[in-house]
Amino acid sequence: MFEDVLTRLGIASRNSGVHSSHWLPASGGTWIDSWNPSNGRVLGEVLTASREDYDGCVLSAIDAQRAWARVPAPRRGEYLRCFGNLLRNAKQDLGMLVTLETGKILSEGTGEVQEMIDMCDFATGLSRQLYGLTIASERAEHRMFEQWHPLGVVGVITAFNFPVAVWAWNAALALVCGNAVLWKPSPLTPLTAIAVQRLIQQVLAPDGFSGVSTLCVDADSEVGKWMAMDGRLPLISATGSCRMGRSVAATVAARFGRSLLELGGNNAAIVTPSADLDRTVRAVLFAAVGTAGQRCTTLRRLFVHHSRLDEVINRLAHAYDSVPLGLPWEPETLLGPLIHQGPVGEMKRALEHALREGGTLVRGGNPVPLEGSFVQPALVKVPAPIPIMRQETFAPLLYVCPYEDLTQAITWQNDVHQGLSSAIFTDRISEAEQFLAHNGSDCGIANVNIGTSGAEIGGAFGGEKETGGGREAGSDAWKTYMRRQTCTINWGQYLPLAQGVKFDLA
Ligand code: NAD
Repeated sequence: MFEDVLTRLGIASRNSGVHSSHWLPASGGTWIDSWNPSNGRVLGEVLTASREDYDGCVLSAIDAQRAWARVPAPRRGEYLRCFGNLLRNAKQDLGMLVTLETGKILSEGTGEVQEMIDMCDFATGLSRQLYGLTIASERAEHRMFEQWHPLGVVGVITAFNFPVAVWAWNAALALVCGNAVLWKPSPLTPLTAIAVQRLIQQVLAPDGFSGVSTLCVDADSEVGKWMAMDGRLPLISATGSCRMGRSVAATVAARFGRSLLELGGNNAAIVTPSADLDRTVRAVLFAAVGTAGQRCTTLRRLFVHHSRLDEVINRLAHAYDSVPLGLPWEPETLLGPLIHQGPVGEMKRALEHALREGGTLVRGGNPVPLEGSFVQPALVKVPAPIPIMRQETFAPLLYVCPYEDLTQAITWQNDVHQGLSSAIFTDRISEAEQFLAHNGSDCGIANVNIGTSGAEIGGAFGGEKETGGGREAGSDAWKTYMRRQTCTINWGQYLPLAQGVKFDLA
């Protein structure tokens, strides 16, 4: 069954991971394996990029971008509309490949592809709305306005946990804005990247635009490092850990490039005395356990008013007992494996820390006797915030902590290095507004009666502090992929200077 999916997507047992204007044969890269985290078996082998391959990709992207930028934006939007239609046809297969490579459940795998389709639709509409402002000039017979130009070749570095949606957030906007895109996917998910690259080439290649979307797979992070240093790439969009972002940001800044960072989260929710607990528990369960805790927006800290603590913990414990764990492509499964054994060990170590620091294990944390990297989701009760809660452990580990008053809960929520997503559960408007006020949540995303994860593409996605400050997907995120030019035209006879400055020869 899986072989058919891979074949329909053009994936072989051995694949080249380098595509510039065509798929490149071996030229010095190494072979890496793509693993299925549900059973530890190899899905396929991929040839990574050598430095020579990488340079070939950059040159082909530079060349292609010059022609692409001359295509009227609504025509570029049309290419994205066609790509979206190909994704509609491939949704089940590509969603299954996401599930096979990441271990996320099938509805989330296909959900990721739906997010790509949504981005294509959004970009198609945007292709007729890339407009600037006309500004009132202080000088007579002058016209001042802003216009937006493409940047050139945009480098996109993606994480394993959203192997296709995050590329689409970036690529759909970058392409419609007239840029070329060079993609470096996570070495843990190279096959989904190859499948996507094959699909987009079906719309680009027939018109000679292959180089507009290029791909360079690496074995670790070597291509990512070349990209960060490469002055030919004016923008690097990088999604991943704060550690990675710190390195990329410094390198790109040193060459005065632009970076768009989507880094780690340490997200919290607050449950107030008036919260509807049916809604709250459902939302918390999806946010904390969904995607096996491997979303940047996963709920990691839950602050519950002390008057509701026991009830919330009991209900959550019951829900945790009922979560069906198993193979992620089975329809009844809600919890698949972690990406590999590394995060399994990290979760175990974080749990040990939590118990040493005064936490009590309410549920989970035991080994799971299955072949893949499965873990039992864990619920830990803490009397007050403990040091380990300040760390993002990329696994389903939720700390539950009582609070006395809302100001204290908001302060605790904000007291971490990251600032991605946050939520409050309340039926009181004053509590919701306090949470949303300027001195409330300090995160890029603040939700009321919704969990921390599962954003729609229409809004700008991203977070503050060590989450990196980037914004992707909807709203006006497209402006990051363009350069703004302020233009002033003097259509009169005279040369008045701004601010009344006089500079006339006697
Ligand atoms: P990671 O940082 O290990 O890797 C992410 C990508 O960066 C990979 O492609 C990797 O090869 C590359 N990379 C690593 N070090 C690099 C360097 N020094 N220079 C250039 N490239 C480098 O992250 P991961 O384990 O793949 O993903 C999980 C992390 O990503 C979590 O922290 C999660 O919160 C974060 N994430 C954030 C968002 C967001 O939108 N904020 C979305 C998804 C994931």
